[in-house]
Amino acid sequence: MTQENSSVRTAGALKDTLGRPLANLRLSVTDRCNLRCQYCMPLEDYTWLPREELLTFEEINSLVEVFTGLGVSRIRLTGGEPLLRRDLPTLIHMLAANSGVKDLALTTNGTLLSEQAAALRAAGLGRLTISLDTLQPERFRALVRQDMHADVLRGIRAAQDAGFRGTKIDAVVIRGFNDDELADLIEFGHEQNAEVRFIEYMDVPGATQWSLKNIVSQAEMLATLERSHGPIAACASDSSAPASRFLLSDGTVFGVIASTTAPFCGRCDRSRLTADGIWYRCLYAMAGTDLRRLLRSAAPPDEIAARIADLIGSVWRVRADRGAEQRKANHARSAFVPLDALQRDPHFEMHTRGG
Ligand code: SAM
Repeated sequence: MTQENSSVRTAGALKDTLGRPLANLRLSVTDRCNLRCQYCMPLEDYTWLPREELLTFEEINSLVEVFTGLGVSRIRLTGGEPLLRRDLPTLIHMLAANSGVKDLALTTNGTLLSEQAAALRAAGLGRLTISLDTLQPERFRALVRQDMHADVLRGIRAAQDAGFRGTKIDAVVIRGFNDDELADLIEFGHEQNAEVRFIEYMDVPGATQWSLKNIVSQAEMLATLERSHGPIAACASDSSAPASRFLLSDGTVFGVIASTTAPFCGRCDRSRLTADGIWYRCLYAMAGTDLRRLLRSAAPPDEIAARIADLIGSVWRVRADRGAEQRKANHARSAFVPLDALQRDPHFEMHTRGG
């Protein structure tokens, strides 16, 4: 399958019913994770995707070629924990060779990064986002149920040493857990040449312990930081980026992803592909589109590519999803998906859909 496929080539800029382009694809390369963050994967064990259903690197690359032919230019590898996928640099090398991919990034918990950063960089990975919610090893252990805080710090340093620039450090802020570390995290990011972004605690699928009272809103975070750092100015931001960026008076920039109190559905250009080839046009979508079945059907590669492009186009053109806004409007909200539904179908999980 190649980008020269005619159906793919002529598709042009694909827009949904709200004029949002198909520009950004999150690729979950595995549903597995080595941490058990309480806000994401609080259980010990999960129903995992069957191994034979996981897409091979060649299959992922073929699908990405279709997506880039339809206008996707930004790819983010995620999971689960993407660095658990064996030989990931091989996939990165394939994706980096696709001229339609203008931005190739990866989100990781950082625990395995020190041993992989150089290979990821050499393979053509452009940018990294590293999740780190606390600077306190004890808190980290309580949150993720692993004693790996020092590994994450080593990973952050290794990213810098490997030549990654523009690294982001993402922290989910939870009331009573780490909301007293905002200034410390910004300072740490500054020391590491990384921009810190605070994420409001979201009721993503899988967040079974989520509750409104644990959210620290963007407004509250800014008020806290204004008390310690003085006036904060808003920066001009890339219109489709999830984070609003702010400037402290000492010149440090940080971001806030306010998906819970100020959702950005109106400019959401991202969709998600699971490791087994199910495509979701919204994090909160109740169902996805099975691309694996078509991909593995018996037909010449060009025909398969054309059929997949047609399917993606027909789904995106009628997309009207505003999942986070609808969740916000629900005042009696609790966890998005009940535990028994999650256990019946792992596709509801955040770690399957790709964070
Ligand atoms: N394992 C990788 C990592 O830890 O970054 C990638 C997958 S993880 C699901 C991607 C991001 O989703 C992480 O930054 C994580 O903190 C965030 N996340 C997971 N559950 C969340 C929740 N309930 N609210 C806000 N962010 C969440």
